[in-house]
Amino acid sequence: MSRHLELVPDLPESSDPTSVAPKGKERPAAKKAAVPKSGGTSDRPAAQFWRTTGFTRLSVPLSGVLGGKTAKAFESLKLRTVGDLVLHLPRRYVSGTELSDLRSLREGEEVTVLAQVRTASVHGMHSGRGAGKFRLQATITDGRGELNLTFFGAKHLVDYWQGQLRPGARGIFAGKVGAFQGQPQLTHPDFVIVDDAGQVIGGAQRNLDLVKVAGASGWIGLYPATAKLRTWTIASCVALALDSLEGMEDPLPSWLRRAADLMDQPAAYRAVHRPDTEDDIRAGLGRIQFDEAFGLQLAMARRRAIAAADGAVPRPRVRGGLLDAFDERMPFRLTDGQQQVSDQLFGDLAQPHPMQRLLQGEVGSGKTVVALRAMLAVVDNGGQAALLAPTEVLAAQHHRTITAMLGDLAGGDLFTSGGLGTGVTLITGSMSAPRRREATLAAASGEAGIVVGTHALLTSGTQFADLGLVVVDEQHRFGVEQRAALAAKAEHRPHILVMTATPIPRTVAMTVFGDLETSTLTEIPAGRADVSTVVVDYAAHPGWLRRTWQRVLEEVGEGRQAYVVCPRISADSASKADPDDAGAAVEDVYAQLTDGPMRDLRVAMLHGRLPAEEKDDVMGRFVAGEIDVLVATTVIEVGVDVPNAAAMVICDADRFGISQLHQLRGRIGRGAHPGICLLLTGTPPDSPAAERLSAVAGTRDGFALAKVDLEQRREGDVLGAEQSGMRSSLRHLRVLDDEDLITYARDLAAVCLEKDPDLADPGLADIVEAVERRAAGDWLERS
Ligand code: ADP
Ligand code: MG
Repeated sequence: MSRHLELVPDLPESSDPTSVAPKGKERPAAKKAAVPKSGGTSDRPAAQFWRTTGFTRLSVPLSGVLGGKTAKAFESLKLRTVGDLVLHLPRRYVSGTELSDLRSLREGEEVTVLAQVRTASVHGMHSGRGAGKFRLQATITDGRGELNLTFFGAKHLVDYWQGQLRPGARGIFAGKVGAFQGQPQLTHPDFVIVDDAGQVIGGAQRNLDLVKVAGASGWIGLYPATAKLRTWTIASCVALALDSLEGMEDPLPSWLRRAADLMDQPAAYRAVHRPDTEDDIRAGLGRIQFDEAFGLQLAMARRRAIAAADGAVPRPRVRGGLLDAFDERMPFRLTDGQQQVSDQLFGDLAQPHPMQRLLQGEVGSGKTVVALRAMLAVVDNGGQAALLAPTEVLAAQHHRTITAMLGDLAGGDLFTSGGLGTGVTLITGSMSAPRRREATLAAASGEAGIVVGTHALLTSGTQFADLGLVVVDEQHRFGVEQRAALAAKAEHRPHILVMTATPIPRTVAMTVFGDLETSTLTEIPAGRADVSTVVVDYAAHPGWLRRTWQRVLEEVGEGRQAYVVCPRISADSASKADPDDAGAAVEDVYAQLTDGPMRDLRVAMLHGRLPAEEKDDVMGRFVAGEIDVLVATTVIEVGVDVPNAAAMVICDADRFGISQLHQLRGRIGRGAHPGICLLLTGTPPDSPAAERLSAVAGTRDGFALAKVDLEQRREGDVLGAEQSGMRSSLRHLRVLDDEDLITYARDLAAVCLEKDPDLADPGLADIVEAVERRAAGDWLERS
């Protein structure tokens, strides 16, 4: 046999079907000009829910097409409708002439491989339960690795299989990888034998699905499968789903399809599931990705339009009020960036429709004071402002900082403040009932102009007298829907300002925050000290550990404070899934330090399991300088602001992600004292984790780090697990890579809404409806 077996599929070997997709770039930008300015809408009634035949067909439950039992099996893949199933795309394709890589198989995995038979032999079984039966033992190869196949059965069956599995024959084999005597093997795999052209010429008789599917076209799609749903079963179910779509209308208006040069939607579904050529796959995926990008952008554009049409109470800047009084008392000059963004905010707040703005700002760029000035502008107009923080520690800190910054302007002493002032109230979930009652009363009565809080602000117990502005700090912990929940507390739509310190790539911003306008603060206020960052490889240099603690002692000796950050709270809080996945624990490190090098220092612990009161107390004492060293979990990750803290030791730093390390490090170097950040790690120097650490040590530029970070992460993580229900609408689009397509879709969506502001076109209306339903469903599932 001289045929060269080393055939590396040119389709992706990974689980990523989109890498054969067209880049948006290839879509000519000139097409945008071709969008007609009128026509294309239909006058079908707007009242019923799914208005087009297309959506009616796609929203049919799978049970209607596959029968209840099979439909139920698809529940585990979260596939419930015909539309869900046709969008469940093959993970990869084999052409029927290419071999898989057998070296990468892992035990327990459901695999489908294309390989060549090397040997096949029949053995009689003489003992045990199988006595009298026969065993067929075969080996298949891709020229690199090998895989054993085992079949049991009566003589005639085993002989039949052996006849199929002749040495040199090529076949497609599907099953679950097991192990026998240390070698990977498939027991009773489904299989078909193919000829050189990839056509099926034989197979085990019971694999009718397999034969049908494999014989159907030149390319065979392999689906992400489960034990119950083998790729063949999925393929034949998809075929039924596709049949049910026969004659379906494309939901997009024809002018739009022409303008964007789109393949017909039903044809696209057929093309990705039963392609004849690689180009089919590409073209079909192109349409599916367009649909995702466009649906999302149309929904976002619609949200923007609705928000803009909704009235808000204008809160124009008032002279001689609280804001001016605050500005007079401010201990520093605003940076140019802070000034510009402030002006933007005042401009927005003065409008009769709600501000919807995202403020991105590097760690330490001074977002809080910008937000506070906007809040004061609203209070000057008789309104209230709510500041929503992701953690109790941060909420408490904001409350403290704002109260301190306002000085005599906070609270009721109108005498010293010249008649100006407003209440600043904190509301968190773990507050004692009487305190919480007092705080909610202050919010409801309007006595508190500024209400700071956690998720507790979203609960029905919290009401406002006149909520004019909602500020959401550190957005990456909050979803779009939570913002909406808070906005719903106001009689009129409040103005909304969302702040994040995590730099967000443009396309992600357009996708996840597509309903927001963006401002950016890049400048760090002058006089901010340097922070040097050092990776301490304690595995290679155990002596450096002592030096690390020594360094902290020196800082404390000079009157500075320090953080020691650990990945978990206690020795028993290791992940259940992997008890070996330990990492330093706050309680252990605290015990060791207070027993050893930091015996004479004032050391305290801070972590999420402490009662709220205690957390408050510890943080308060740290702020006041009564604690030298704070041993903490990542509760201090965002927003904590103690300018005197100059040193940070991050234990087992390799367990944190880049943006987390950057955020953590942002806690030091906030005053005039140069900071030192020590990243303790025992990870091998050439691992990805070590690369992350040296990236962090190499720069303090958040945008540069965000790029490294995004390159290392998977798509789902880019959008953030908590980010947004919108995420569920993104299955085949890669937000980072498909920038051009997303931008194109966004422009097209704007044109659509301009032509058809009320979405009278039933197809467009259904598209938005589908995206919003999915977003809402996702939100409901999580809450
Ligand atoms: P972040 O953008 O990370 O939330 P903060 O709002 O917490 O940053 O500000 C960081 C620190 O910088 C705070 O101590 C704040 O008082 C201070 N600060 C803010 N603006 C200025 C400025 N213009 N000049 C000097 N210090 C400033
Ligand atoms: Mg902040």
